[in-house]
Amino acid sequence: MGVTIDLALLMLALLIGLWGLRLRRATGLPWAPVTYQDTGGHTPEKPLIARRLGLVGKPDYLLNVRGATVPVEVKPGRRAERPYESDLMQLAAYCVLVEEVEGVAPPHGLLRYAERTFRLDYTERLRDQLLDLLDEMRVALADANCDRSHDDLRRCAGCGFFEQCDQAIEPADE
Ligand code: SF4
Repeated sequence: MGVTIDLALLMLALLIGLWGLRLRRATGLPWAPVTYQDTGGHTPEKPLIARRLGLVGKPDYLLNVRGATVPVEVKPGRRAERPYESDLMQLAAYCVLVEEVEGVAPPHGLLRYAERTFRLDYTERLRDQLLDLLDEMRVALADANCDRSHDDLRRCAGCGFFEQCDQAIEPADE
């Protein structure tokens, strides 16, 4: 009787293992330790901040792939044959953030849609492209002449644009 139950439990464990393998393979993501996870509520991770570039962001995951940190952005509701340019630029920004924060450039980033995973190789050209885009956005923002919409000191203190922003609330202003 004891042997039968042990055998049944072993079979169950094997089935669950196989099912997990199939699920993991279906995501298209590599087997790699997760070093960071934007868990959406339980234990929020700090954002990655590169103040000198005026850049801040929270990738969904950071994986450790053979010693290299790889950012992952997940768009579970998106179905497309090709990745959206805006999603690629968001992922490029995470790659730049990883490079700035860790001092080592990631080899690539991963973009997960509902049914496909896309790989974005991180190159010097991509980094330059992203930095040019950030400059364009800053110019557009300056032209728009937007005023601060809050009085939250902590929000400014954690903002990636703090150094450049002429409306940032300094602790002395409180
Ligand atoms: S006002 Fe504060 S939160 Fe808004 S952009 Fe400036 S520094 Fe950032």
